[in-house]
Amino acid sequence: MLPEGTSDTEVPVHISGAFDGGNIEVLDASDPVQVRLAIRPDVDQKSRQWFCFRVAGARGVPLTLDITNAGEASYVAGWKGFRAVCSSDRSEWVRVDTEYTGGVLRIQHEPSADVVWFASFAPYSRDQHASLLVRCQQAGARVRCLGLTLDGQGIDVVEVGHGPAPVWVVARQHPGETMAAWYAEGLLDRLLDPTDADAEALRALATVYVVPTMNPDGARRGQLRTNAAGVDLNRSWGVADPATCPEVAAVQADMVRTGAAIGLDIHGDEALPYCFASRNVLGVPDLQPGDEARFLAFLDTLASCCDDFQVEVGYPRPPAGRSDLRMCSTWMAHTLGSLAVTIEQPFKDNCLRPDPVYGWSPDRSLRFGAQTVSALKLALGGGNGS
Ligand code: ZN
Repeated sequence: MLPEGTSDTEVPVHISGAFDGGNIEVLDASDPVQVRLAIRPDVDQKSRQWFCFRVAGARGVPLTLDITNAGEASYVAGWKGFRAVCSSDRSEWVRVDTEYTGGVLRIQHEPSADVVWFASFAPYSRDQHASLLVRCQQAGARVRCLGLTLDGQGIDVVEVGHGPAPVWVVARQHPGETMAAWYAEGLLDRLLDPTDADAEALRALATVYVVPTMNPDGARRGQLRTNAAGVDLNRSWGVADPATCPEVAAVQADMVRTGAAIGLDIHGDEALPYCFASRNVLGVPDLQPGDEARFLAFLDTLASCCDDFQVEVGYPRPPAGRSDLRMCSTWMAHTLGSLAVTIEQPFKDNCLRPDPVYGWSPDRSLRFGAQTVSALKLALGGGNGS
């Protein structure tokens, strides 16, 4: 029995980001049509953009959710044309009305379920990572833990194939770029498919080392760019201190041991609505004459195999010899002589193949990762026959 004067429609709205990958600060949720929120910064106290939270008790309520510090985000240009995602089953994430004006990101949505989740992009949890490891080892992959993070989580690499060419794929150095983990999952699932001819060819040509979640602590803490010590992993290659950046120190040591013919470093870009590769490795000192042609040919191969990848739009090319060698791909190119590529996926959508309902989505990332298997096979001389 409800107390007199109340009804079950008066359940208050509760908003929380206190879960794996969650990020939100609730400033004022007393009025669901005028909720005031803020994005919590990383432990470095400055990086912020990723948000992920649940709203309970708002079925049929026309929510207005204002993220009041969006103007202090790391990539304010990322809000232009951005639409948040919402899910009531944590599987299907649909885009919802979102507008950025005057430093405030306003999300408006009327949930059709009691509990719904909002995020910058479909999250990828530690449980999903664990399930991926299980699936990979059951399919015959080797799973090695290279060490522990500062929060005590495993730094895991999945090893597939027995071929002579070492290939490394590093995903989600930046924890808020969850599309990188979806990409790694798509790549691994296809690579381990016993019925797939390109995957079989690649497993014979290469030994593929995939780090699906390079920054588990930042991911679990709901951070954008850094680890538990506030370190940006992709500015730590070649200079990683195991005391503050065990993730890079461990993976780098293993890469030096195996070598790397090809290295892919998978990211998400807040602003550009395209899939593209950074040209950062073209500014590595002592670039050899054939290196640039080899790099550009690989991008063309990626474009020929991957529906969403294109080579026309991306970051400006760095000046000759001026690349930042503390990044994964530039360090790999410079130190290991790898054909190394930083790959970016959009938060918003691929504007060349837009999807008005989902925008860029886990399905698109999974497919991009899966299609990369064919590009790697071709790049290693696996021919075009299948
Ligand atoms: Zn990134």
